[in-house]
Amino acid sequence: MANQVVPLDLSYAYSQPTEAEVVIIGGGIMGVSTAWHLADRGVKNIVVIEQAELGSGSSAKPLGGVRANFSDPGNIILGQRSLAEYTRFPERFGADIGLQTVGYLFLCRSAGEVADLERATEIQNSMGVNSRMVSPSEAGKINPLLDPSVLTAASFSPGDGFAEPGLAVEAYAAAARERGVTFLNRTQVVEIQRNGRSIETVITNRGTIRTGAVVCCAGAWSARIGDMAGVDLPVTPVRRLIGMTRQQARPFPRVPFTLDLSTTMYFHNYLNGLLVGISHEQEGGFSREFNYDWLPEFNAAASVCAPELENPDLEWGWAGLYENTPDHNALIGQAEELPGFFYATGFSGHGFLQGPAVGELVADLYLGKPTFLDPSHFSADRFKGTETALREVNII
Ligand SMILES: Cc1cc2nc3c(=O)[nH]c(=O)nc-3n(C[C@H](O)[C@H](O)[C@H](O)COP(=O)(O)OP(=O)(O)OC[C@H]3O[C@@H](n4cnc5c(N)ncnc54)[C@H](O)[C@@H]3O)c2cc1C
Repeated sequence: MANQVVPLDLSYAYSQPTEAEVVIIGGGIMGVSTAWHLADRGVKNIVVIEQAELGSGSSAKPLGGVRANFSDPGNIILGQRSLAEYTRFPERFGADIGLQTVGYLFLCRSAGEVADLERATEIQNSMGVNSRMVSPSEAGKINPLLDPSVLTAASFSPGDGFAEPGLAVEAYAAAARERGVTFLNRTQVVEIQRNGRSIETVITNRGTIRTGAVVCCAGAWSARIGDMAGVDLPVTPVRRLIGMTRQQARPFPRVPFTLDLSTTMYFHNYLNGLLVGISHEQEGGFSREFNYDWLPEFNAAASVCAPELENPDLEWGWAGLYENTPDHNALIGQAEELPGFFYATGFSGHGFLQGPAVGELVADLYLGKPTFLDPSHFSADRFKGTETALREVNII
């Protein structure tokens, strides 16, 4: 048998620095985007700590939807700004992230869903998003895999689509590395030491780093990091699963990212096959084991909306974690009780598409510069009882 060549992970061989201006915890899309935006603004001595490999958490999803078709203005701004940045990746970083602008199609099967989407579409249009309500027959023309007779209406946003999160993580990390950011893979943060309202050290399994600033980008694991710092980050990990069909000799028609609001069933192209999923009810927990328990629910939904997709010919699948908050919207901000502690987490299933804008927002917040969006909108303090939770209808 030929010898296998195992690539050397040199990042682990680097010694851990003893001091940093900023420590970013988590090497997913949020961590690398934040690192890049900080470095791009001239911040030196940034260290990103990742307990496994870069992009190995929820950002390991093979394809991620990118869109601005939300109902909450804050989410719309984050989506618009991120889409614009993802579109610029080839020119900015020389990176092809597999962006496919196939559009998003949200399906309604009740009057309540139509009313929600009509309101959302109005807000989107008033903010410059290209989206519109379409009739069932137009939805059927846009996506020939659908049975239009079961639909009440749909909303279509042709400027949205999907891209490859792994490639976006790589591109940000490479650009950040060029600006001097240190990435420590296979390094776990185990403790954060504070002195009153100041952070003093971050302790990993490899030693101690003196720092006054931490950005928590730890995705589904963020509540633990919050606990280490004494900051409440209400993030619950919830497993979600997707399947990929066998590649077809004759490709499926090119369809938008299509999502049935009543059941949460969704699908879109994956090369010459399809990626399919549904938000199957799960207990919270860190298991990322893949299974097919969700398939009967997917089949039941498909049999109504897209009969051709019932019993899909699945070749493989992937399980990852949603990082859910109580209102399924992000936590972005600076802890009032510990001003050196920043957080960008709890994206509840839409973090890839918000990654670029959130990294920029956190970088400006850290530097005390004007931000393109008032971050208090997404503050974790909204769960302390004084603020109201955010309502967003266009998420699953
Ligand atoms: C099935 C599924 C479908 C999805 N679909 C979409 C979609 O279509 N569009 C979209 O925008 N989003 C989607 N998402 C959500 C998206 O994947 C996440 O919101 C996004 O990847 C979150 O990025 P992150 O950087 O915050 O977290 P992650 O990518 O999870 O990164 C966090 C990192 O922190 C590290 N970490 C944790 N604790 C520590 C510690 N103590 N020390 C060091 N490192 C630590 C972890 O190892 C991890 O790599 C989906 C998610 C799932 C599961």
